[in-house]
Amino acid sequence: MLVVNDVTKKFGGMIALNNLSLEVRQGEILGIIGPNGAGKSTMFNVICGFYPVNSGQIIYKDKEITRLRPDQICYLGIGRTFQQLQALPSFSVLETVLTAGLSRLPFKESVKQAREILERVGLASVAELSSVALPPAQQRILGVAEALATQPELMLLDEAMTGLSRLESEDIIELIHQLNDEGITFAIVEHTMHIIMNLCQRVVVLNFGCNTAEGTPSEIIKNKDVVDAYLGAEVDFA
Ligand code: ADP
Ligand code: MG
Repeated sequence: MLVVNDVTKKFGGMIALNNLSLEVRQGEILGIIGPNGAGKSTMFNVICGFYPVNSGQIIYKDKEITRLRPDQICYLGIGRTFQQLQALPSFSVLETVLTAGLSRLPFKESVKQAREILERVGLASVAELSSVALPPAQQRILGVAEALATQPELMLLDEAMTGLSRLESEDIIELIHQLNDEGITFAIVEHTMHIIMNLCQRVVVLNFGCNTAEGTPSEIIKNKDVVDAYLGAEVDFA
């Protein structure tokens, strides 16, 4: 569904993605793990057109998207959440989600869609609150709601469950499973191994901007080289 082919991204002299190749397959939930600074967020930013690549191609559903703008890539069906919380102080929760939907829908329909999404993700009761007033866990869910409003076929979730309690992340895990059953493909960056084990059929390990290992979650946690050399203390095996 999405092919990252030999992509290099440099920031000055720093190589954040180093001839990176990987694939997200239609219908799967792909986990992406690797130490801080490995290039995971940069990869999402490059896929979504926020950063230009130095070389390589990104192909989505057989179409090259490498040099498209973020709004064009979003419109093709790739939605994403951000590692850093992005709440807009002047927007209510409802306004945040309805604004995201305006790329697809006229205003009234977008309001209706936003209400349905908030109901679904459990934020309906806080729809009128300022989005910055939400606790971090709900702001992360709001990020997912916003991405959903763009009606994606592929969702890229960047540490969407970081900072959440196990109970709080269980709600998001359940939602991801449901959305996946309904046909949305996922690529998710997470540090917590039980979340990866719970959600993903396949895992890619990034290190130094390269794809250093791929396999099922159980293959990856048994791969001593991966655990010792690449993950160390960065991945939480609890
Ligand atoms: P990860 O998400 O795997 O922790 P990142 O993709 O955020 O890693 O970062 C990869 C490397 O690229 C890091 O060394 C980081 O400092 C650098 N980097 C990321 N974004 C920028 C940027 N906008 N400008 C300069 N360097 C950046
Ligand atoms: Mg990151």
